Amino acid sequence: MPRPIVATVHSSALAHNLARMRSAAPSARVWAVVKANAYGHGIERAFDGLRSADGFALLDLEEARRMRALDWRGPILLLEGCFEARDLELCSRLGLWHGIHCADQIDMLAAHKTQLPHRVFLKMNTGMNRLGFTPERFRAAWTRLSALPQVEEISLMTHFSDADGPRGITHQLAAFDAVTHDLPGERSLSNSAAVLRHGYALAERSDWIRPGIAVYGSAPDFPLNSASGWGLEPTMTLASRIIGIQDLAAGDTVGYGSSFTADRPMRIGVVACGYADGYPRHCSTGTPVMVNGVRCRMVGRVSMDMITVDLTPVPAAGMGSEVILWGRSSTGAVLPIDDVAHSAATVGYELMCALAQRVPVLSA
Ligand SMILES: *Cc1c(COP(=O)(O)O)cnc(C)c1O
Repeated sequence: MPRPIVATVHSSALAHNLARMRSAAPSARVWAVVKANAYGHGIERAFDGLRSADGFALLDLEEARRMRALDWRGPILLLEGCFEARDLELCSRLGLWHGIHCADQIDMLAAHKTQLPHRVFLKMNTGMNRLGFTPERFRAAWTRLSALPQVEEISLMTHFSDADGPRGITHQLAAFDAVTHDLPGERSLSNSAAVLRHGYALAERSDWIRPGIAVYGSAPDFPLNSASGWGLEPTMTLASRIIGIQDLAAGDTVGYGSSFTADRPMRIGVVACGYADGYPRHCSTGTPVMVNGVRCRMVGRVSMDMITVDLTPVPAAGMGSEVILWGRSSTGAVLPIDDVAHSAATVGYELMCALAQRVPVLSA
């Protein structure tokens, strides 16, 4: 028998979350962001639930090739554009739309020989200070691009740094509007947090929204809001089983470094899941784990292949009992990935992306 850990990707939840994002921006077309192998879900597996997207946005040319291999003929957007000149050949061949965030990318495009002109998304740096032309340089970039025979259509894009938090989007939106108000072209501004929290302010500039994390059932602004509060369903379940039981006396310790000491007699379940499966090692005593659909707490340290759980709330649990690390239990109960991420001082994004290669993944 294989080790009992398994991840499940829920197609119907992906479809539900995508529809939820569409309803938050009803007049926009939706890029389903599938970078990082569909946030760890696997592009091929996620595709099934995301077919109703208007396009797929990603960064990696190999992932774009995989989308075309799935026979997706619709739009694909390279969010970071091309990394070197020959990437443009693949854009021409696969019909990829691509971001343009710096002068080097315009130079490459100007030197590119193509029969079919390209659709490009010109990116403004409105304050995130990662990629994009500053507002001062943006119009010159637009003018230069619009004169190129290699360019068919220019869309305008920016990315928010604080759509999930108190600073909000107003300062970036003002910078964007000041420079683009009289430029033609479709607009794409919103990540998940912007769609959910600032949809009203963005309605006029939402030709294309770019939700990622919300499609994968995690709240972009946790713990301010929860995934279920936003009407999102978990798209990934990481499940395992109890493979050992220990009965502790008061004063006994558990695991490496003896970081947990029992203060009374207690039953401990040993679970086949560790950091080599992608479970965050930073989780410590108190991290929620669900056993037989009941919320319990992890105790002691995460080791490579195992964690240990206090079974006090589930006296009936024993060898082979179902353990949910995040996602949906067979009882229907949900352990939100964001709760687990929070215990590890990280975000749901990182946990789903870090699912390890050795974990078998099923589609459901
Ligand atoms: C990753 C990414 C998104 C999606 O962000 P989420 O927070 O996952 O919704 C949107 N736009 C760009 C440019 C990105 O890189």
